[in-house]
Amino acid sequence: MSYLQKQKSSLKIQQDLFMSAAAPSVKHIVIIGGGPAGLTAAIAIKSSLAAAQFDVMILDHKLPFEKPCGGGITAKTLHAFPFLTGLQHLAVTTNQFSFESGHGLRCEVESLEALTIVSRKDLGAFLLEKALALGVRHYKEKAMRLGHDGKKAFVQTDHGAHAADVLIGADGAQGASRRLFGVRSFEKNRAAGLGFYVEGIAGSKAVIKFLPRKHGYLWVFPRPTHASVGFFAVAGEVSRGECERIIKTYLDEHYPGVKLDPAKTYSATIPLIFEWHKEQFTGTVHQTPFALAGDAAGFADPITGEGIYYAFKSGAMLAEAICTGDILKYKQRCEAEIIPELQKSARLFPKFYRTHFIDLMVLLSRRSRSVQRVMSDLITGTQSYLTLKSRLKSLAPKILREMLFGG
Ligand SMILES: Cc1cc2nc3c(=O)[nH]c(=O)nc-3n(C[C@H](O)[C@H](O)[C@H](O)COP(=O)(O)OP(=O)(O)OC[C@H]3O[C@@H](n4cnc5c(N)ncnc54)[C@H](O)[C@@H]3O)c2cc1C
Repeated sequence: MSYLQKQKSSLKIQQDLFMSAAAPSVKHIVIIGGGPAGLTAAIAIKSSLAAAQFDVMILDHKLPFEKPCGGGITAKTLHAFPFLTGLQHLAVTTNQFSFESGHGLRCEVESLEALTIVSRKDLGAFLLEKALALGVRHYKEKAMRLGHDGKKAFVQTDHGAHAADVLIGADGAQGASRRLFGVRSFEKNRAAGLGFYVEGIAGSKAVIKFLPRKHGYLWVFPRPTHASVGFFAVAGEVSRGECERIIKTYLDEHYPGVKLDPAKTYSATIPLIFEWHKEQFTGTVHQTPFALAGDAAGFADPITGEGIYYAFKSGAMLAEAICTGDILKYKQRCEAEIIPELQKSARLFPKFYRTHFIDLMVLLSRRSRSVQRVMSDLITGTQSYLTLKSRLKSLAPKILREMLFGG
């Protein structure tokens, strides 16, 4: 670290310590990462009744940026988080879906609820503006190390250091906070995605295509100025080159003339956890309470890769726990309200990705409106995995009638 950086660093620590000296009852919350999880936690703390008791700082060296992500936000998410009102103006909303199985069977589905597809840069800017308006401080800094003085923890960044009474690790699947907090890494429990921002794809239909023997899918998600086109699969299943070939072949077949721009490519990781019992989301680091939220905690749906909903949900639950002064409540709520659904998805995962199962679902969807509805409810988040089996069972006679007589 240069002399100048050291001076800046010590100045920042002094500023932070000065603030705590000036207002001893104010707690300093430092959030590493300003994605949906970190920004939601910040917004929820600073819009709570206890807001005056907290000084909230977000450290994120990239925010806002075009995170490698489909940007598909389910109807369930928009219903659950009123602070997202207005986001639709920045997005494409669609209820037209095309599903294609590994054997090339296709069905077109119109969902009751829409999927909102947004550029992650726009989403980041939208949330950051709300957070700043509430008094949250944002530092464009990258967290590198943690330290402590016996009373407070310090986050060392590439520009300085900040003191914290509570630390939140919300720096995504590839962030450093899991390691810094001493939580084991995802290792093989992840999926890898490759995508492109593609111009020249008309229409607002969202496409999901499965491939034989691959645990993942290709997507084409229209956005206001471009489409996000990509493919993700369990890590190690396909190489980067193979991913690129899969995407290129699909585009050549379905959107001839549309070119992939290598400068607009991205790759990223989705956590894909099958065993939850050894994971931990809250604890103390150098006696300072900490918690992980969003992707950093491993909260993404193994089947669909949906993580934005869980990022919002965990960020909001964590904020509530911090405001009530009992951070352990966060762990209990994760175990009750997030993990059962993700565990169910992990259990269904091997069955779901059997090529014949997807063929069957697509075939049934062509003839049966009820199956179509179930498929679209899964994508728009209104169908939980926990009640999927019982819903299909109760629909069985209707599905049979629709298969025989159409409907
Ligand atoms: C290819 C792909 C497609 C996806 N498509 C969808 C989809 O369509 N719908 C959906 O719901 N989910 C999707 N997901 C998942 C979704 O992107 C994540 O679940 C979601 O973004 C998690 O939010 P988060 O806030 O936990 O983390 P992130 O959004 O990853 O945000 C983490 C933030 O931390 C910052 N950061 C990282 N390291 C540091 C550091 N050391 N110091 C400071 N800041 C740091 C980053 O700059 C970033 O802003 C997709 C994921 C991938 C990889």
